[in-house]
Amino acid sequence: MRLRNISGSREAIAESPYVIPEAELTQCPGTWAERFEKKQPLFIEIGMGKGRFIHTMAKEHPDVNFVGIEKYSSVLLRAIQKMEEEELPNLKFIRMDAENITDVFGKGEVNRIYLNFSDPWPKDRHAKRRLPSKEFLDRYDYILDKDGWVEFKTDNRDLFDFALEEMKERDWKADVVTFDLHADEELMKGNVMTEYEERFSSQGNPICKYIIRR
Ligand code: SAM
Repeated sequence: MRLRNISGSREAIAESPYVIPEAELTQCPGTWAERFEKKQPLFIEIGMGKGRFIHTMAKEHPDVNFVGIEKYSSVLLRAIQKMEEEELPNLKFIRMDAENITDVFGKGEVNRIYLNFSDPWPKDRHAKRRLPSKEFLDRYDYILDKDGWVEFKTDNRDLFDFALEEMKERDWKADVVTFDLHADEELMKGNVMTEYEERFSSQGNPICKYIIRR
């Protein structure tokens, strides 16, 4: 997702109280518990887009702190606007490329990672950029608590098959694998729809999901 360049979006982000300033990011490892009102588990979403999922999750789970990560300012701006409409004390944002995620979260500091409708990067030479790739799993391995896990949803079957191969290669274990999430009543309990999930499921595309841990 890359919205048209919205003029002033970088400035709006720099001024937003909901966004961790870029210059502060490398000081963040080990400090996340103090950056929120309450010390409680930390869940992150990588590639949150306009932030509908993470905003809803933060509202429904006030006993968890959430951080939404997005690469593009113009997209992040939409998530900020949502927060301006409905402020939540347990949600913050970061504008960054998740490739550098181990510079921002300390070892074992994160309790759960959500990947929703990640960009597919279909060319083989770009496989390392896919968020469920083994290169990214190694980064998640570092920042995740030992009991933490990764949840991934997509309608892209090729990307999902790739993700299943990559997790096996790194010896992660699957608690859940489904190729049709919306047909599974049990798994749908508490499911929060993302913007892309709503769009693709309404077109009749089945949604794949895994939950994996080491
Ligand atoms: N998660 C949202 C949803 O399900 O509606 C948005 C999905 S959209 C296809 C993928 C988003 O991930 C885009 O906004 C993109 O900018 C962001 N993204 C992709 N790679 C990223 C990376 N390496 N670091 C941070 N954000 C990334």
